[in-house]
Amino acid sequence: CGIVGYVGTQPALDVVLAGLRRLEYRGYDSAGVAVLADGGLAAAKKAGKLGSLEKELATNPLPVGATGIGHTRWATHGAPTDTNAHPHLDNAGRVAVVHNGIIENFACLRAELTGRGHDLTSETDTEVVAHLLAEEFSSCADLGEAMRLVCRRLEGAFTLVAMHADEPDVVVGARRNSPLVVGVGQGEAFLASDVAAFIAHTRSAIELGQDQVVELRRDGVTVTGFDGRPADVRSYHVDWDVSA
Ligand code: GLU
Repeated sequence: CGIVGYVGTQPALDVVLAGLRRLEYRGYDSAGVAVLADGGLAAAKKAGKLGSLEKELATNPLPVGATGIGHTRWATHGAPTDTNAHPHLDNAGRVAVVHNGIIENFACLRAELTGRGHDLTSETDTEVVAHLLAEEFSSCADLGEAMRLVCRRLEGAFTLVAMHADEPDVVVGARRNSPLVVGVGQGEAFLASDVAAFIAHTRSAIELGQDQVVELRRDGVTVTGFDGRPADVRSYHVDWDVSA
């Protein structure tokens, strides 16, 4: 129900967890995070409140990295369990994805992936996206392009945010019928389902249009349509105050 993504210079986990706290008001049943560090991807996820996830992280800390994503889940497909919590990873553990919304045609995609030897372990509609991204990335080595190709195959409403261990300085987001906002900072960039998640860091925001993909890097953001065409970017200043 809430999504946060970060690439920059700060420890991503701190930024992501603080952002998820800001989105708690939306309600959720599970939470999870992933960071890219030391050439790999590390994730933690837990059913229950953010406190349960933080307890898990205190016991089994993740390595420190400057690229990360996080999610609070409001289950639609699959019970609120640790396994069904996001992020979802591909079988090699190289790509992680978080999702708000519903992928209507997931059953068909799932059967297709299983047929090609993928091992899907959750009951969610989301997990297919991690596997599809891994497949596309293996031929194009470009997560933005992989996301565009995958999104064209998805039906339903979705905000997706993903990262890949082979492209450690990039976070990619996409949206259709579900909100996603970009925050542009100095040498850092943010993605969230609501500006409240990053307003403590930057008030320079870009609202993503329908059927668009954004690529976040330390030195800026690129927005394209699902068809790959460059998109018009509408940036604005967030001037409202948030209570502490
Ligand atoms: N449909 C996804 C799931 O059940 C995402 C739910 C959400 O928006 O948090 O896992």
